[in-house]
Amino acid sequence: MRGRVVAGLLTALMMGASCSSGGGDKRAASTTTTASAESSTTTTTAGSSTSTTPATTATTVELAGTPAAGVLVTGPGGAALAREPGGATYGRLRAGVVVSYDAVDGSWARVLTPCENRTWLRLSDGRAEPKVEVVLDPGHGGNEPGATGPGGLTEKELNLAVVERTVAALKAAGVDAASTRTSDYRVTLGSRVAIAAALRPRVFVSVHHNAEPDGPRDGPGSETYYQIRSPDSKRLAGLIYEEVVEGLAVFPAQWVADTDAGAKYRTNDAGGDYYGILRRSAEVGVVASLAELAFVTNPSEEALLRRDDVRQAEADALARALVRFLRTEDPGTGFTVPYPRVTPAGPGGGTTGCVDPA
Ligand SMILES: [Zn+2]
Repeated sequence: MRGRVVAGLLTALMMGASCSSGGGDKRAASTTTTASAESSTTTTTAGSSTSTTPATTATTVELAGTPAAGVLVTGPGGAALAREPGGATYGRLRAGVVVSYDAVDGSWARVLTPCENRTWLRLSDGRAEPKVEVVLDPGHGGNEPGATGPGGLTEKELNLAVVERTVAALKAAGVDAASTRTSDYRVTLGSRVAIAAALRPRVFVSVHHNAEPDGPRDGPGSETYYQIRSPDSKRLAGLIYEEVVEGLAVFPAQWVADTDAGAKYRTNDAGGDYYGILRRSAEVGVVASLAELAFVTNPSEEALLRRDDVRQAEADALARALVRFLRTEDPGTGFTVPYPRVTPAGPGGGTTGCVDPA
């Protein structure tokens, strides 16, 4: 805690955002390169895909009783892709891949792939994800590993493991939840938000683990970010912070943190949400939080995060927070005023170098 303010400011100036190794989906820039695509994201189709969308006669029809804007998960044999409904297949997505769709034509659905390719997928090759109250988003994946611990534990695998346990914990509590990613593959920010938008959940949480702490702390240095203009998002972030810190504090560790750890916000130059996952979710009316549960780059915390019981503790904490968000009016705790961060966001979360999981 010594030299807390000065050290914090210096660190803020010198270092990038947390969880920065490997860039990643929480770091979509506030720069102009992405502005046009993002500002047009007002529907479930994630905006920027219109240039690749062929002219079709597709209409929104009912698919097995659900509106034709939803989410499909590819089946055990994967799913065939075609450039037009009923056309020749040109490729496949592998089993278990989550895609949003915005139209159905006959036995084909127009989907947005994990790499944001707009294409057609054979309906019989997938199952429709039912509507859920909660969508969870395991950060990073594929060749975007996210932060990596000194022992080699990657954020992408850890985030996925915790999300899988959280989905199960929520199910046990009577809350249906879905995940934007089910195995180790890249998913762009646009596709993650499109999945959430298509499922219209009451809440969307992007799960991460952190990097680049300011220094030691007497307890977990969890951070949760909320959408600056959403009181619901703020309450969500406060509840997640409260539960995760309490859930992790029982484990002995040499904890580290940023000096402004807590439930907080980060804004871009325009005063909007800095992190793309929060900004784009807000644009489509989805209440969201980005949670940095612990520091995977800290050897002491990395050792904990390899343990099943610690991963379960994180998942149980997330599930408790989400149930409280859905069923109570508890306000949450841990709200802090963040110190200014000036380092631009790094790459990640976009389509560059993204290869759909075949
Ligand atoms: Zn991350």
